[in-house]
Amino acid sequence: MVKSFGSVFDCLVVGAGIAGLAASRRLVDAGLSVLVCEKSRGVGGRVASRRIEGAPFDHGAQFVTNRGAEFSKIVENLLIAKVVFPWFGEAGKERYVGLPSMNQIAKILAEGLDVKQGMRIESVRFCSDYWEVSSEAELIRSRSLLMTCPAPQALDLLKCEANENSSYILNTLSKIKYDKCVALMALLEEPFPVSDSGFLQYDYPEPIATVADTLKKRGPESPGIIIQSGPEFAERHFDSDPVKISEGLLNAYPRSKELRIVSTSLQKWRFAKRREHCISDSYISDPSAMLWHAGDGYMTPKIEGAYLSGLRAAESVAAELEFKLR
Ligand SMILES: Cc1cc2nc3c(=O)[nH]c(=O)nc-3n(C[C@H](O)[C@H](O)[C@H](O)COP(=O)(O)OP(=O)(O)OC[C@H]3O[C@@H](n4cnc5c(N)ncnc54)[C@H](O)[C@@H]3O)c2cc1C
Repeated sequence: MVKSFGSVFDCLVVGAGIAGLAASRRLVDAGLSVLVCEKSRGVGGRVASRRIEGAPFDHGAQFVTNRGAEFSKIVENLLIAKVVFPWFGEAGKERYVGLPSMNQIAKILAEGLDVKQGMRIESVRFCSDYWEVSSEAELIRSRSLLMTCPAPQALDLLKCEANENSSYILNTLSKIKYDKCVALMALLEEPFPVSDSGFLQYDYPEPIATVADTLKKRGPESPGIIIQSGPEFAERHFDSDPVKISEGLLNAYPRSKELRIVSTSLQKWRFAKRREHCISDSYISDPSAMLWHAGDGYMTPKIEGAYLSGLRAAESVAAELEFKLR
């Protein structure tokens, strides 16, 4: 396919996960032209949901928490708009769940944004005044580049662009590591309460880290259970046959004999949960190259951290663009 240049955007955002969407909203609110490129067919990244025989299942993040004042305001607005509702947790430590599924949070954030779905960025090149960003079919120019894909994926794209200015970015990206996770979703004949709250977190997360039932999340119409593995299990079995992985997780759940399973679905996450590190930045950037990276690699490795990292990076991009245009 012939590649062509379209218009030059103020900012091209790689990834329509929570960080990319939060950042893009802030940039658009600042009056900038923004294109979001997302390799998947939907928005949300790891805030992901799918339907099994019509029943909604969250196969990434199970809930959203708000530990700081700034993100609490966002969650409050989502509550008012009936996009989330409280699931469980004592005061100050509530967990909220998306309605009808977690992915709705991302869909609301994406409203009105220019998101190109199914567009995997394959290469990026800085040409002194702008970035040239390529997918299989298109070549796009942008004055700035904000990457929000997990750090290892950003590193892969940026390695070829390395110069002495970008060594700080490349070094930082290489310190951000992720654990894998596999999640088994099972649609059941009838509701199956896993605990009073509907959620179980194991102290030693191997082979199972968490179990959630959809009864407490969504009501009795879509009975189901979601079992998420710990990192060691996922690392060991990531490339195994999905049927074997599902069996391994079910066998490890002490109450699996009580489950009356209708059908199952498996999700593998290569970059699931960010490991602890000692990076204190909210994002990283090289303003001389108009390059930023944000996401849950910084701040807290959760939806809240991803959102706030995206916002902080967007504010920096907007300030830098304004400075350049002055
Ligand atoms: C199984 C699991 C359970 C979790 N549970 C919770 C929880 O209960 N509560 C909580 O707060 N957090 C939870 N998390 C963590 C939370 O989901 C993440 O911290 C957050 O969603 C990260 O958002 P992000 O925007 O930084 O990254 P992502 O969501 O990973 O978004 C990055 C996006 O970039 C896209 N992308 C990557 N490469 C390219 C490319 N080359 N071109 C175009 N697009 C590209 C990806 O497709 C993706 O959509 C969980 C995560 C997992 C995997």
